[in-house]
Amino acid sequence: MQIKMEKAILYARVSSKEQEQEGYSIPAQKKYLYDHALKNKYSVVKEFVDIESAKQSGRKNFVDMVKFLKKNRQIKIVLCEKTDRLSRNFKDIATLDSLINESDIKIILVKENFVLDKHSRSSDKLMFGFKALIAKHYIDNLSEESKKGMNQKAQEGIFPGLAPLGYKNVTKKENDRVLKTIEIDQTRAPLIKRLFELYSTGQYSLKRMRDIANEEGLRSRTGKKIHTSFIDKMLKNIFYTGSFYWSGKLCQGKHIPLISKKLFNMVQKSFQRFNKPHRLRKRRFAYAGLLKCAKCGSSITAEIHKEKFIYYRCTGYRGCKLTYVREEKIADMLFQAIKKISIDEELLNHCRKVFKNENKDQCEYRKAQSENLEKRKNLLKKRLEKIYVDKIDGKIPEETYDSLSSDWQEELKNINEKLINYQNKDFDYTEEGLKILEFANKILPLYLRQNKFERAKMLNIVLSNCTLDGKKLNPHYKKAFNLLAERSLYPNWGG
Ligand SMILES: [Zn+2]
Repeated sequence: MQIKMEKAILYARVSSKEQEQEGYSIPAQKKYLYDHALKNKYSVVKEFVDIESAKQSGRKNFVDMVKFLKKNRQIKIVLCEKTDRLSRNFKDIATLDSLINESDIKIILVKENFVLDKHSRSSDKLMFGFKALIAKHYIDNLSEESKKGMNQKAQEGIFPGLAPLGYKNVTKKENDRVLKTIEIDQTRAPLIKRLFELYSTGQYSLKRMRDIANEEGLRSRTGKKIHTSFIDKMLKNIFYTGSFYWSGKLCQGKHIPLISKKLFNMVQKSFQRFNKPHRLRKRRFAYAGLLKCAKCGSSITAEIHKEKFIYYRCTGYRGCKLTYVREEKIADMLFQAIKKISIDEELLNHCRKVFKNENKDQCEYRKAQSENLEKRKNLLKKRLEKIYVDKIDGKIPEETYDSLSSDWQEELKNINEKLINYQNKDFDYTEEGLKILEFANKILPLYLRQNKFERAKMLNIVLSNCTLDGKKLNPHYKKAFNLLAERSLYPNWGG
């Protein structure tokens, strides 16, 4: 009897960083999905694989997959390891959502034991969206991981970032090894040295320094003129003395110093003498810092009319004729923006439950995997002991012993590495997700209790780069809150 198998496709994704880690590789994901397909009688007709690097977002094959599904309507099953493999942004989620609804597609997140289809509850969908979102957040944090590699470099005395002006980052190849070093930029270095010397005399203001630098032809790497703030930063940069700060620690660099420590200290003294720290300007207008002009991109400021009415306006003085907007109006629009991300107790509690189960599942999964590995480890150890005795007793030839024992040793090594990985807890996005949701649950009553300056602080947590366009305010949410804000656009998503 022949069983008719249902057709499916699979989707896998890794970041280039993850790929180096055991268990995250594409082959591992694919094997996992093929095993599941076999068990459940799916025949995988096509694979879509994305590899994400720091430069590329890695969505190309995701897009192809969506196209493929639209063209081949008979295929209804998408297999994927888990949420963070499938989707990293809200646009993807919305695309998947419409696929699910239009074509009756089922997305199976195998490791999470979760099926996303037409019949999924809206709150489950929201959770899915959330996980995807937080996964994205996690991936962003992964880049911090690469800092570990950078720390290594820093300890070796090589500044791990872009060297300041006056130096060049040089990549060399030596005996097939890539060597990254920092060398003096002979065209800019002499002038930079002179700038330090000039400023150390205490006779020059920073503005004057800037003019001298520009007159003498100093330009940024992109060929632009130098700003005062740039000069300020440069003259305070200890890198030029041969050392540098990394992760808060002073490291002795391998690069050649441009100036002496003595000169550097004299320059710092000049700063104390001539550049008293700026007095902190008190911000009188609560919401000004949150907004930019939608037309020209200038900052927004405010002024007081008739001694009591506060009006916000664009600071761009030429050509931009943005209307003045009353503060009350701005406050109201910002309040609406906050309201949009607020969630009720019911949804929060539901999310808590889902997250809790998820955590449990993950723990159980890890435990089961570890146990299997331990079993295999013990078996291998026994075999190795036995085969050694057999060799001594002359029961098996030397070559057989060599090849078998080296295979098993290798496997043991792999198992030990995997075990360490399981013991190091996976990133727990549930915790972070809950934090965001709890915040979204509390924000409204909290907001209402604050004065406008405190409100502005809260708004800063949630929003960035909002623009004022005529009388309309366009809120722009930070990543973590985007999904909550946009859920109203997608009523299926628990809005
Ligand atoms: Zn403007």
